[in-house]
Order: sequence, then C-alpha cells, then structure tokens
Amino acid sequence: MTMKRRTFLVGSVSGLTLLTVAACTPDSPQPSPSASPIRSKTPEPAAFVRTNWAADPFSRGALSYPAVGTAADDREILRRPIDDRLFFAGEHTAETAPATVQGARASGRSVAFDVMSIAEPGERIAIVGAGIAGATAARILVDSGYDVVVIEGRDRLGGRVSTLNGDDWPFPLELGADVISALDSAAVLAELADANIDVVSFTLSQEHRTVAGEVLEPSTVGQDAVAEALEWAAVQPVDTSLADALLDSGAANVDASAGAAGVSQVDLLENYVASDVVVGTGADADELSAWFASIPVLGAEGDEMVVGDFESLIVGMIEGITVLPSSTVSGVTLTDRGVSLRLARGESYSADRTIVTVPLGVLQAGAIEFDPPLPFSHRGAIAALGMGHRDKIVMRFDTPFWSTDASAWSVVDGDTDFPLWINMLPLMGEPILVGLMAGEAAVRLSEFGDRELMQAALVSLEPFVDPDLVSRSASPSASPSPSSASD
Ligand SMILES: Cc1cc2nc3c(=O)[nH]c(=O)nc-3n(C[C@H](O)[C@H](O)[C@H](O)COP(=O)(O)OP(=O)(O)OC[C@H]3O[C@@H](n4cnc5c(N)ncnc54)[C@H](O)[C@@H]3O)c2cc1C
Repeated sequence: MTMKRRTFLVGSVSGLTLLTVAACTPDSPQPSPSASPIRSKTPEPAAFVRTNWAADPFSRGALSYPAVGTAADDREILRRPIDDRLFFAGEHTAETAPATVQGARASGRSVAFDVMSIAEPGERIAIVGAGIAGATAARILVDSGYDVVVIEGRDRLGGRVSTLNGDDWPFPLELGADVISALDSAAVLAELADANIDVVSFTLSQEHRTVAGEVLEPSTVGQDAVAEALEWAAVQPVDTSLADALLDSGAANVDASAGAAGVSQVDLLENYVASDVVVGTGADADELSAWFASIPVLGAEGDEMVVGDFESLIVGMIEGITVLPSSTVSGVTLTDRGVSLRLARGESYSADRTIVTVPLGVLQAGAIEFDPPLPFSHRGAIAALGMGHRDKIVMRFDTPFWSTDASAWSVVDGDTDFPLWINMLPLMGEPILVGLMAGEAAVRLSEFGDRELMQAALVSLEPFVDPDLVSRSASPSASPSPSSASD
C-alpha cells in the first residue's frame, strides 16, 4: 500500500501555488470498517491505544488557536463577566500561554480572584467543567470560604488532562496534555512536584527521514519560510492565513527540484508545516491567522513531560469539593438573584454565580444554551477563535524495531497523516512510540476504526524499521486489541 501525502504546495507554471484546501489523495486509506487490513513491514505492537478528542462531545477538539479573522482582544473579551454572574475560564480565555495547561490553570486562578472581588464569602459558586481551569478555580474559592459545586459532564475529572493507568503500560500514559512547555511553567511544575508526580526532560532530538528510510541533514528551510511569511504578514493591512502569507509573501517560492536523497525544499517546507505548525497549533495553515499565530517549538530546551499520572493532580485539587459527575450542563439562565443551570438529564441547579470552563469547541457547537443569549462581543469572540485538533496513537512494542536514538521522528516526503512520532525509548527506556495526528487530518482519521488506524500508523513508521532488528525478532505478536482510553 502506498500512502501519498496530501498536497500542500504544488509547482505551477508561474511558480509555486499554495493549495489551501488539503486534498486526500485517492490512495489514502478511507474509513471503511470492512476494509481488509493493510499489512505493513513494521512489526505489530504488543499494545496500542488511540485518542479521539476530535469526536469527543466534551472537548470537540484539542486546543484553541487564533483563526484568520480573530481580533487581538478576543480572549480578553471572553474573560469579561456578564452581569457579574456568569464568568468564563479555560485555556481559550488565557491571557498568557493559551492552548496550554499552564494557561488554563492561570485562567482558573484569575477567574477565582475576579469572582472573589465581587462575591461575598459563603455564596454558592457553580463551576462547569472539572479540567485544570475549573479545578484551580474551585480549590481557591473553597479555600476562601465559598460554597462551590463542580458540575462535570464526564464520569471522570481532568478534562483534556487524561491519564491511562493499565497493565498494558509500564508507566501512566497521558492521552491528552503531557508536555509542560517552558513558557510560564513554574507554577504547574511546582504543583506537580508537591504532588510527587514525575516529569522527565522533554528536550527532543529530531530525525528526519525520507520514505526510503534515508536520514536527512537538519534543515531550517521550512522554519525560515514560515518566519519570513509571518514577518511579511505582520505589516499587512489585513490578516491572512499562514498559507496565504506563505504564498503572497513569496516565502514559499523555495526550490521544487529534487535535492539530496530526492527531497526538495518544497518537501522540507511542507514537512515543517505539518510536523511543527499543524501539530503545534492544531490548525491547518489555511485556517491559522498569520497576524496572531505563534508556532510553539515542541521539545525545546526546558520543556518537561509528565510521566507520573497528570490526571491525579486534578483529582487531588478537587478532593473534598462537591462534584456532580456525569452531569452535562445544557443551559445557563441568568436570573435576578443568580444563575440557574439546566442539566441535560432534566434537573436544574441554582447558584449565585457560575464559572463556565467548557472548551471553546463545546461553546462553538452551541451545546450550552445561554439565556439571555451571550452579548455579541462574546459570541463574536467564540466564533472567531479556532478549535484545533490533535490526537495520538500510542504503541508499545515487545522489542524496538528501530535503531535510532532520536526522540522525535518525521518523514519528509511521506504522508502527513502522522507527521510526528515521539520515541519514548530514550525518554523513558521503554519501546513505546507516540504518533501525533493534527488539524484536518486528525478529524478525518477520527473516523477510522482502531485497527485500521493502527495499520495506517504502522505504514507511516516503515522508514524507521531496521531490517536487521525485525528479522532477528520473533514473529509479529498476535493482533493486539486497543487498551481502552478513558474518554
Ligand atoms: C491530545 C492533546 C494533547 C495536548 N497536549 C498538550 C501539551 O502537551 N501541553 C499543554 O500545555 N497542553 C496540551 N493540550 C491542551 C491542554 O490539554 C488544554 O489546554 C488544557 O488541559 C485545558 O484545560 P481546561 O480546564 O481549559 O479545559 P478541559 O480540560 O477541557 O476542561 C473542561 C471540562 O469541561 C467539561 N465539559 C465540557 N462540556 C460540558 C458540559 N456541557 N457540561 C459539563 N461539563 C462539560 C469537560 O468534560 C472537561 O472536563 C493538549 C490537548 C490535547 C487534547
């Protein structure tokens, strides 16, 4: 089976043309549960698990991003209380480091102090959502004498922090957030240390290969082109997408002819966009605002990875606080005396004030009906920001089939459905690989069945197979069943 990458940059008579609509090539795997399994020369894993945040009704994506058309103050607008009774928090409202756990945590802190500046101790505060934002706010308010109830749609706490503890895995697996990037990380790292939750350094060493398995020299072609496009966009009168900025600035006019190992500069640019921009932000280049995009450097100096059960941090924060689990809020009504929250199962719940921490994707889907409707400013901000996608497939092998020590892998001229692999062997001493899917591809792959997704992932790993190790190892293990993700 050959899998072609989707077309991002293609040559045209007048130079390079940027295709802003990702094309799924005809021989890409299509979601069809009855399709016969694709065989790969990559050995099958002994265990695997995949996430599906894209299809999860309580997240509807992974992380917020600045979409084209976002205004500079959209996140700040969302932090403005409505009638001093309805407050919002969550990573999408964060003043610094949005789209991260530290941003979400900071938003929970700051909303708690906003509430305390208005509310009398003893008042009842209903917090919708038990992710890190909701948990942080709940802890501060309870410790300051407020009567807090946390209303959570899922049957577990943690939201997009979600840990799988199971016999199949040698350490707790993080299915959602796992990396604490160095930006504003001190407070979260201190809380993890206080809770005795282990972290390991997540400074990545990258290896890029061709589909044929040839190791490439490091290149900054993609990074340079994106930086040039963003610099160009910053002085334009209107915002454009990163894809348009790459094209219109001329930054994408890199050499399309095959260079070393048959790889062109276009391949390198396309790979950087897929593995760094789309994985880092969750947004495709044609959606991401060139004015407001900041491209995170995954695995930069100072980044830490949580490997000791991240979810237990949030469970610990909420300990002793009243929680209503499996209670989906479907309506929020502001009354003269407070707020009334309608639960999807029919009950309603009254409080003096409420803090809504549900993800941006949930707000965008209109899953909670607000009465009266939210002000235009809030609705505008919710619609303008983007909800990005990031999903994972984690595979444990009995023995490594690879011989590289690099901790991050990417195939430059291959398919971009799995643009980045994290090799946990150098990080944790375990033959576990974590494949990242992002942007539109993550949404498309969310429809794949578990085995079909695993087989597609194994195909994408073929360039890293060391034939000596595979022929020496025992025959592939019997087809594994996926571990169940906790969502
Ligand atoms: C796969 C993946 C990888 C990520 N990697 C990283 C990373 O490495 N580093 C990083 O910093 N960030 C990462 N993130 C982002 C990070 O997880 C989030 O920024 C952060 O956890 C958000 O916290 P929050 O409290 O704002 O929202 P959430 O954690 O989403 O909390 C919101 C809560 O609201 C609940 N809820 C939703 N709808 C309703 C409803 N109607 N009624 C009641 N409850 C409801 C949800 O169930 C959830 O518990 C990643 C996210 C994903 C999905």
